[in-house]
Amino acid sequence: MKILVGVKRVLDHNVKVRVRADGSAVDLDNVKMAINPFDEIAVEAAVRLREAGAATEVIAVSIGPEKAQDTLRQALAMGADRAILVPHTEATEPLSVAKTFKALAEKEGAGLVMLGKQAIDDDCNQTGQMLAALLGWPQGTFASGLAASGEQIEVTREVDGGLETVALNLPAVITADLRLNEPRFASLPAIMKAKKKPLDSIDAASLGVDLSPRLELVGVVEPPARTNGSVLVASAAELVEKLKQDAAIA
Ligand code: AMP
Repeated sequence: MKILVGVKRVLDHNVKVRVRADGSAVDLDNVKMAINPFDEIAVEAAVRLREAGAATEVIAVSIGPEKAQDTLRQALAMGADRAILVPHTEATEPLSVAKTFKALAEKEGAGLVMLGKQAIDDDCNQTGQMLAALLGWPQGTFASGLAASGEQIEVTREVDGGLETVALNLPAVITADLRLNEPRFASLPAIMKAKKKPLDSIDAASLGVDLSPRLELVGVVEPPARTNGSVLVASAAELVEKLKQDAAIA
């Protein structure tokens, strides 16, 4: 079984997000970019499935600029077997990403697509669900545990009430949540080896997918700056008075 894994190049989660002066977008000039953290977890899960004999090949896929090759090389250093870059310089949207994964899953004859539960730049949390609908495959979103057995895979999901376990018939789509695993650090030899692994470039047009935007970004604003807190020590009456002054209570 082949596994396709989505790896998106996003703003590093340690970087403080800044908005461009004209409010048109988040400023990505000269800031550190990294693999989307949930995608790193998805890569780890896919590689573990292959190591356990449940899969034969792990293929990392990124839709993004040439620089996304670095992100793909990271997935290769973690153990993916080969990588595919679908070049695109603008921001990507969940629906066109899902269509691209559908085309690639069919082209490759994949038995499983593993994505992150969400990309931390747009926080959409839509691509996996859209992809499962487009393919007509079962989906296991927010996975915090996986167990493959034959033609099925059991997915433990983090839901509001606790944990839920579903058995999916393969082929299927799974999205990784934070607690699914702890991704490995790529060793230096693995990083060197990754440089020699195949990394192909496939145009979206050749897959029959149009990546041009369907959404219009109207504006981006910084969240309001936090005001300082105040310490109230005297009495509950003082607290009530303060809350009234701040219009927090009537
Ligand atoms: P989203 O629906 O945008 O929050 O993204 C959910 C998941 O879809 C991400 O964690 C990735 O695994 C995958 N994904 C989204 N955009 C891309 C992209 N441009 N390239 C590769 N994978 C992507």
